[in-house]
Amino acid sequence: MTPGPRDKKEKCGVFGIYGHELAVDLTYLGLYSLQHRGEESCGIAVFNGKKLCQLVDMGLVSDVLRKNRLKGLKGRTAIGHVRYSTTGSSILRNAQPFVISHNRISFSIAHNGNLTNAVKLRRELEQDGAIFQTTMDSEMVMHLLVRSKKELFEERLIDALRQCEGAFTMLCLTGDSLIGVRDPHGFRPLCLGKKDGAYVLASETCSLDLIDAEFIREIEPGEVIIISEQGIESKKPFDRRTVSPCIFEFIYFARPDSRIFGDSVYRVRKNLGRKLAREHPAEADMVMSIPDSGNYAALGYSEESGIPFEFGMVRNHYVGRTFIQPSQEMRKHGVKIKLNPIKDVLKGKRVIVVEDSIVRGTTTGGRIKALREAGVKEIHMRISCPPIRFPCFYGIDFPSRKELIANQLPSIEEIAKFIGVDSLKYLSLEGMLETVRNKENGFCAACFSGDYPTKVGRKAVKTPFER
Ligand code: 5GP
Ligand code: MG
Repeated sequence: MTPGPRDKKEKCGVFGIYGHELAVDLTYLGLYSLQHRGEESCGIAVFNGKKLCQLVDMGLVSDVLRKNRLKGLKGRTAIGHVRYSTTGSSILRNAQPFVISHNRISFSIAHNGNLTNAVKLRRELEQDGAIFQTTMDSEMVMHLLVRSKKELFEERLIDALRQCEGAFTMLCLTGDSLIGVRDPHGFRPLCLGKKDGAYVLASETCSLDLIDAEFIREIEPGEVIIISEQGIESKKPFDRRTVSPCIFEFIYFARPDSRIFGDSVYRVRKNLGRKLAREHPAEADMVMSIPDSGNYAALGYSEESGIPFEFGMVRNHYVGRTFIQPSQEMRKHGVKIKLNPIKDVLKGKRVIVVEDSIVRGTTTGGRIKALREAGVKEIHMRISCPPIRFPCFYGIDFPSRKELIANQLPSIEEIAKFIGVDSLKYLSLEGMLETVRNKENGFCAACFSGDYPTKVGRKAVKTPFER
């Protein structure tokens, strides 16, 4: 099976630590803090002094990495991975980290991002006799690596990655080193920290906080970090590319207590809310969010507009992703199981509802209906990013163009009608970019603009609704 469009949508998190006696436990904790980046499967690979051992399974970190299962994993150097995928590829053999042994080389990799030339590479490799075990683009790197004619392991890895295009934040574990890589565009984050003298690599800084590791710095776009007995070495082996970290990490994906791309996710989200208030004011009695992802922009909107912030909905934190709605009759209660409107706060009020993003519009529609039932008088919805019209080829799980509500309906007024609000406004592209702008580089905002920083397939062709 070649990777289909569904297989190409991966949201993942990675964590690794070199030379710590509690490497496995710390990786377990690190993965816990990255659970938001992938809930489908997770795993740990560890070097036990002789060989690489691995534990991977479908499910949440708390379910998969239970104490009795971790017991068998021993070692001072480990990497871990959390993965989310759409149904098509949610199978165990795609769970990471991968471990392979080939012709006296053993190594393990954990990958976040998507390779945009995976189909082409796979076709070439298969024609050359390669047998693939998974439907993952990440497996390509392993095949390219073992075919490399270079001597040193790190040179082989670099050789392989030079042939890859797209997004790859990657950790690689061997018997004597831990290697971290960020692709030259720097789509996905990766940071470096230190815990009791041991180096740590993690997708987000919230992992370092959890294990009391000191934050050293972010890995730069195009940088390869090699951690071994000799210490730490940094290389910049790739051709220079436009640096374009993913703006959606700031808007929705990363945790608000992390720092990525040189900025605090919390502060950026709040500033997006402030900007939204300046661009799209509304008269109302209160500002509320759709918890939790909308909280920070809502707070910014409230501060900037001077309209008080209230919690209009309470989230039930015990709703797991495995919640099964037993029947059609019960299904309609589903929306309120996760988020229940607080009637006493909402009744008779004109509310501004701030949300970080709208993708398909279906969950938003359900929540608006619940607010109406709670007796709100007017709903003015404000979104802290522009309409999402283009799929992501770099690791965010956006549905096909057809499923995106901003493509399905020809105008924002139509979307407002569909989700049932009195007014709907999105933050402008310029407003968003101005808010996140940093001195050195731009961002990938292709899901909003259609301007992809790398070559992408035909799927990116514009539809009649795009302006
Ligand atoms: P929609 O109304 O489009 O069905 O859902 C919008 C909600 O999905 C928002 O609350 C937003 O925070 C959340 N969201 C945005 N991006 C993603 C994503 O990539 N995955 C998931 N699971 N939710 C997302
Ligand atoms: Mg949300």
